[in-house]
Amino acid sequence: MSQLSSVPNQTPSRPFADVLAEMGKENVSYKDLLATNEWRVFRKTIIERDDYYCSKCGQSDTCWYNGTLLRFAKFYHDGKQEFPFELCRMVDKRYYLHAHHKHYILGRLPWEYSTDELTTLCNECHVQIHLDQVIQVYKQIGEVLQPLNFTPCVKCKGVGEFPEYAHIESGVCFHCNGARYYELIGHPESFWFKD
Ligand SMILES: [Zn+2]
Ligand SMILES: [Zn+2]
Ligand SMILES: [Zn+2]
Repeated sequence: MSQLSSVPNQTPSRPFADVLAEMGKENVSYKDLLATNEWRVFRKTIIERDDYYCSKCGQSDTCWYNGTLLRFAKFYHDGKQEFPFELCRMVDKRYYLHAHHKHYILGRLPWEYSTDELTTLCNECHVQIHLDQVIQVYKQIGEVLQPLNFTPCVKCKGVGEFPEYAHIESGVCFHCNGARYYELIGHPESFWFKD
């Protein structure tokens, strides 16, 4: 199976505590939060929960095998079967799976959500969902979620990161630096940390 690869090269991740200790609370950006072990683990949990399929179009991840680009077959990920050629088909472009927050709540770190609040989308459906709808940002006051009118970044439409470009600039939107909403650019510390 050494010829098989599906995961784009990623920048190394670190524990959140190390990032915080090194950079200081004021300087940690959303981009830095996405490069933590905590986010990588949570993101993987969501994608595994969804059986490695886009919840919108059903497209699976793609992989290279002996120079051919294939769609992943679901049960291959269980590691229980031989590589299932008969259930794979050749595709001409790559798909990458993203973990998408259905909404955001200020003050929560990206992994401080229940798994129900996220879903797996392929890169194409992910951009599309952000084009079709503005992902609501809430401020939590006691038990009440108050909706906020934030404006999504024009470049990434509020997606923030593109794992398929992880080999360049760690896949984070260069326009908003991964902040996703204009209101969050430049002062992540006031939004992403609890008091
Ligand atoms: Zn999709
Ligand atoms: Zn999203
Ligand atoms: Zn952006």
